[in-house]
Amino acid sequence: MGEKLPEDLASLSELDEKSLLEVLTGRFTQNLIYTYIGDILVAINPFKYLSIYEKEVSGQYKCHEKKSLPPHIFAVADRAYQSMLGRLATGPKNQCIVISGESGAGKTESTKLLLRHIMELCKANSQLEQQILQVNPLLEAFGNAQTVMNDNSSRFGKYIQLRFQNSSVKGAKINEYLLEKSRVVHQDEGEQNFHIFYFMLAGISMEDKEIYGLLDPTRYRYLNGRFGKEDVVHAWRLKYAEVCNAMDMVGFEEQEKVDMMTILAGILSLGNIAFETTDSDALKVSEASRGWLKATAGQFGVQEEDLLKSLTCTTSVTRGEAIQRLHNQQQAEDARDSIAKVAYGRVFGWIVSKINELLAPKVDCDVELSEIGILDIFGFENFAVNRFEQLCINLANEQLQYFFNHHIFLMEQKEYKEEGITWETITYKDNKPILDLFLTKPIGILSLLDEQSAFPQATDRDFVDKLNSKFKTAPNFEVVRNHTPLFTIVHYAGKVQYNASGFLEKNRDTIPANIRELFINSVTPLLSVLFAATISRTGTLMPRKAKLQVADDNFNSTRKQSVGAQFKHSLAVLMEKMFAAGPHFVRCIKPNRSKQPDQLDSKLVMDQLRYNGLMETIRIRRDGFSWRPKFREFAERLVSFGLFSFSCMSILNSTQLSGWKCGSSRLFFKYWHQEELSRLLERLGRAALVIQKS
Ligand code: ATP
Ligand code: MG
Repeated sequence: MGEKLPEDLASLSELDEKSLLEVLTGRFTQNLIYTYIGDILVAINPFKYLSIYEKEVSGQYKCHEKKSLPPHIFAVADRAYQSMLGRLATGPKNQCIVISGESGAGKTESTKLLLRHIMELCKANSQLEQQILQVNPLLEAFGNAQTVMNDNSSRFGKYIQLRFQNSSVKGAKINEYLLEKSRVVHQDEGEQNFHIFYFMLAGISMEDKEIYGLLDPTRYRYLNGRFGKEDVVHAWRLKYAEVCNAMDMVGFEEQEKVDMMTILAGILSLGNIAFETTDSDALKVSEASRGWLKATAGQFGVQEEDLLKSLTCTTSVTRGEAIQRLHNQQQAEDARDSIAKVAYGRVFGWIVSKINELLAPKVDCDVELSEIGILDIFGFENFAVNRFEQLCINLANEQLQYFFNHHIFLMEQKEYKEEGITWETITYKDNKPILDLFLTKPIGILSLLDEQSAFPQATDRDFVDKLNSKFKTAPNFEVVRNHTPLFTIVHYAGKVQYNASGFLEKNRDTIPANIRELFINSVTPLLSVLFAATISRTGTLMPRKAKLQVADDNFNSTRKQSVGAQFKHSLAVLMEKMFAAGPHFVRCIKPNRSKQPDQLDSKLVMDQLRYNGLMETIRIRRDGFSWRPKFREFAERLVSFGLFSFSCMSILNSTQLSGWKCGSSRLFFKYWHQEELSRLLERLGRAALVIQKS
């Protein structure tokens, strides 16, 4: 047993980076991966199995007092659940748990542990509980992939909302954000396509392989002609069985599964179609890929000639006249890849809609439900080349950092001032100007992008020129002089240079009419439904034919929104929800880049602490007052302990509690006062009862 290290960084008297790192490192070497900063949980990824998630442990974190047990992710789940039930300090009923950290830091694992523990706390009925727990393996199979950073990297963001009636769970809803569709057609060195392709190819029976028209995995270009070694393939095989089982549990029908697998097989065949030019300028598919064209047409349930046409030319209608334009080789390859991306993206969107339909709470509409939301969204990204996807991801992270700052610094310090509490202001990096740079109407980056996207002739260069002229003096923007359309944004987590090539196209994300038409007429029912669907303002798939329950925030707009506008809207909806909820924060930290257990790279860890603003957080949690009940709320709390005719002040003065303050309309307590006070009040309440009785 090593030395006893503090469980809460806010209790450190010496507050510098060195002592902070010492505590975290010391704890990590003793396998103590969780540490508090007041009410915030810091979690360092252990990259190995720890016995701290066993039943005996989870059984303890039920309605527990924070100080009585070591810091744990289960404690966060417990706290969120108890807060929702109003058993802790007063505040909003709905709760949200925000998990942040870079790729591989452990966000998704934390999400799963939280879900598992909440299900345990609410003693969910076993079928619904199983359904909810099966959602993750399903989403991970279709939305995760091996990357350089993480063998199981989430390539989409998600907000899982558990819906409760009083203390029991009634259903769940998922919002997904920005699936990285480009991965279907291209993966960088050392990376893979989405897991499901490998799982399927490894796990499918010989008979089904024939039915779906699947061939040897190494033949597929979208998989880079590579497959796994026997032990890996074995693991994939098991995963496939798990995914099939999850689909059954959640409630997918057999035919839907078959259709879905057939579409995936079709995407793989499609990727192998290659083109060559002929003497007469027209394109044809290469001799070697005629078979692939036939296979794809079969799998997609469309006519071979129609498929070929949609790959080799576009049809546009001008003044009632259909005009055909032949593609060159590049354009045909782009058309092929865009079909693959759209088809995959729609399958993913459909899975999420289907899950939402199946897990929707089955209660009368006048029953009031409360909610715990868990946000597991991609961390901040800064690669060698940063594209439109990174811009959106980093914007989401700015928004989350703003949410964090708002709760931890802004609201708190504003209140001290208003209430006349003596307080030395803690400065923090306010990222509001960066958010404004992105989101202000009509001249934020996203608005300018939409403006340019609306001009068919505009180029990515034009867009960057516009940015340069509008923002050359903006503090968080830097002009880059280069042939390539580049620009730099100074994010809260550092400078990122973006390459705007492809921004306009990606933002428009239009499917050519002839491709859409082709698939609407597919004999595969699912494919036809997917392409007949419109995309809602939040980017959620809205089938026209299928009867889907339409949630209020999925307002269906017929005009196609740009990707940027959709994302901006879904972020705004998310923020509105989160700002109205009681927040809980989990900050995940990656200890090393090599995914190894028992190794902690101090510099890497320090960088993450720094850009997360954790140093300032520790200070405010140590010096600040995180529990701030109004006088009336506090008096109600006294009553709930059976302490009637007492004044707040007389009670407080009679306890030995120190360090709290009294403002003009509320009381100010340190985060650790809360539990201490509950204990004291309980004792006083019991004593009062005795006095009354005697
Ligand atoms: P990304 O942004 O790429 O999705 P992430 O933050 O979601 O990354 P995870 O997938 O949760 O990262 O974690 C990466 C890997 O680290 C896991 O696959 C697992 O091997 C390991 N890991 C994470 N948390 C834990 C834990 N609590 N115990 C054991 N291993 C863990
Ligand atoms: Mg993840």
